[in-house]
Amino acid sequence: MARCARTECGTWRPDLLVRYSGLGAALDGQWFCSRACLEADARVRLDKPARLSLPSLSMPPLRIGVLLVHQGVITALQLRDALAAQKLSGLRLGAQLRAMGIAEARDVLRGLAAQAGVGYLTSVDPESVREAPGRLSQDAVRALSLVPIESDAELKRLRVACVAPVPRTALGALSELTGWSIEPLLVSDEHFEPLVTAYGRDARGVEQRVEARTVAGIGDAAALVATAAAGRPGVKMAQARFDPYMWVRLESESRVEDVLVAMDRLHGEDACQAAPTLP
Ligand SMILES: [Zn+2]
Repeated sequence: MARCARTECGTWRPDLLVRYSGLGAALDGQWFCSRACLEADARVRLDKPARLSLPSLSMPPLRIGVLLVHQGVITALQLRDALAAQKLSGLRLGAQLRAMGIAEARDVLRGLAAQAGVGYLTSVDPESVREAPGRLSQDAVRALSLVPIESDAELKRLRVACVAPVPRTALGALSELTGWSIEPLLVSDEHFEPLVTAYGRDARGVEQRVEARTVAGIGDAAALVATAAAGRPGVKMAQARFDPYMWVRLESESRVEDVLVAMDRLHGEDACQAAPTLP
């Protein structure tokens, strides 16, 4: 006999009926007697996303201005001038230094990479990401602010381009969902946007295509999970949180589907700790 995996339901059905009539639906190898039960269970799971354990920096990183002085790129006096000018312009310090002709893009990038403890690329060819290495959708790439530029399926390693500051939560989420190790490489702001635009442009066929949808809440996401599970066999669900999104990946042999859930910050844990005062 097959028992509905939703604890509150517990409906039993004969194994043969489940196997041959396609009764109910399965998610992560668990059988549910109905779409409603699967959806309710998915909703509970999505409501309690596993917290990511992120590699935290033991000490705050050296500020970029100080770092560039140490690297001999700028002098202490130039830094002082740039900081004063920055207050008026509102530019980031790197951009300010470049605008004043004090430092070049390459110097700033090298400094930012040293600050973050990651590598960097002074140029990237957007053509190289047109076939969607790492099989993400363009929506996911935009939401994560990470562009996969090289993947090694055998070693389960993915190189991604990003801009400073390194989006560590998004890196953690990507690693969590794919099970791969992710190596971030800094690129300049000017190089990043063309990469995002080019990503996945030539991705065709089931092999490469990942569908992504953005939904407003966990209820909508659970409904999509139920639809996917009812529509094809062997669907597995993984989830990771990176504010302001929760990323849900539905994977089966035939297809990978991403659901980006825009999370309402009011319902987040931080809001709970701050003692909600809403009526
Ligand atoms: Zn049930």
